[in-house]
Amino acid sequence: MSRLIIGITGGIGSGKTAVSNRFAALGITIADADLAARAVVQPGSKLLGDIAAHFGQDILTDTGALNRPKLRGIVFADIDARRFLERATHGPIMDQLHLELVAATSPYAMLVLSAGTGQNPLINRMLVVDAPVELQQARVLKRDGSNLETINQIIKAQPARRERLALADDIIENNGSEQALDGKVAALHQFYLDLTRHD
Ligand code: ATP
Repeated sequence: MSRLIIGITGGIGSGKTAVSNRFAALGITIADADLAARAVVQPGSKLLGDIAAHFGQDILTDTGALNRPKLRGIVFADIDARRFLERATHGPIMDQLHLELVAATSPYAMLVLSAGTGQNPLINRMLVVDAPVELQQARVLKRDGSNLETINQIIKAQPARRERLALADDIIENNGSEQALDGKVAALHQFYLDLTRHD
């Protein structure tokens, strides 16, 4: 396992994927908490069975997969349901991420966390991808074709920018061109390589 594990977080549209893709292109192993959260509820998994036992079989689609919109609707409206789901999924997600990070052969590895403030025992350094709100809005509008109201609701539900920045060891200001981002990632990659050589 790489000894240095960097968490990547940032608000919607800040550029987490743009950043992690660039680190991946430099050979760095990337684990992703959202992907792990999907992997652990594959049809046939013990966790999906537990979820169906708790919420009822109609939480599954006809093909036996998790009906995500339905589950989202339930936990959005019911704090106890949300707590059950968080408790049930936490362990399997952490185990899955641990497995992926243990398998990493790159000098350091990264874990993409969603937009939360991302406290996570697997990481030992936090990289925050930051962008002004107007840029977040413009990028997501262009990427998803969603409307501004929905985007603003998501931004409001996420931790505030200053809360995230307060937890940052490193910050990428993703407020320029794609080429500028290339340069910022390359510089940080060098910095992380230096850290692995000196610890
Ligand atoms: P989410 O939280 O929704 O998953 P994210 O933080 O992963 O978002 P990205 O998907 O990486 O954000 O970026 C949002 C959009 O903005 C994408 O379409 C991406 O290609 C574009 N983008 C990111 N950074 C830049 C940049 N520096 N210049 C131009 N476009 C960019």
